[in-house]
Amino acid sequence: MVRMSAVEKHFGDLHVLRTINLEVASGQVVVVLGPSGSGKSTLCRTINRLEPIDSGVIEVDGKVLPAEGRELARLRADVGMVFQSFNLFAHKTILENVALAPIKVRKTPKAEAEKRGMELLERVGIANQRDKYPAQLSGGQQQRAAIARALAMRPKVMLFDEPTSALDPEMVNEVLDVMTGLAKEGMTMLVVTHEMGFARRAAHRVIFMSDGEIVEDSTPDSFFTAPKSDRAKDFLGKIL
Ligand code: ADP
Ligand code: MG
Repeated sequence: MVRMSAVEKHFGDLHVLRTINLEVASGQVVVVLGPSGSGKSTLCRTINRLEPIDSGVIEVDGKVLPAEGRELARLRADVGMVFQSFNLFAHKTILENVALAPIKVRKTPKAEAEKRGMELLERVGIANQRDKYPAQLSGGQQQRAAIARALAMRPKVMLFDEPTSALDPEMVNEVLDVMTGLAKEGMTMLVVTHEMGFARRAAHRVIFMSDGEIVEDSTPDSFFTAPKSDRAKDFLGKIL
């Protein structure tokens, strides 16, 4: 579903992605771990071309993502993204937030987009919040709305960049539960997270990044019980 081949990226002198080769199969859940600054967010952002790459190829569902143009907008809609900061439109209601992109980008009729929007809000457990504005919701509810909004475009892959890092602890699980449900339904997911419980429970694979490189790529079980590299051992020693 996602294939990155020999992807390189610099920010000025900083080599932030070093020869990234990564394939994510359809239905696979990949958790990305690594110290702060190792390139995890940049990796996510390149997958839907929020960040341009210097060289290499990125494919989603077998189609090469072009650097720009109308084709990019169409293919980008196949990639849903959920950020640490929920990024909802403050002046639109929760239902409007969820229905907006299908109406604008996919030209879905409003009534249909809202009907589907309600189904998604039900799925993430906040249908009763439909007419409120983002600031009236808790962080956990806002993040669930952000997930519903991403799903409204019927993406083929979902990227999550530390989706629970900005939440109060008691709200983390309500968001992880929605993500676990998506994983069980077979969504292809790339998840940057520090939630090791989620990684153990939901991930098919764990990727460990350090200094812009993928240093390990293994099952959660072997990563957590027998990390191979010193960098991964050092990282796990600090967080576990
Ligand atoms: P992570 O998500 O693993 O913490 P990031 O991908 O955010 O890492 O950042 C990787 C490195 O790239 C860091 O050193 C960061 O400071 C740098 N970086 C990220 N975005 C930019 C940018 N837009 N311009 C310059 N440097 C950046
Ligand atoms: Mg990050």
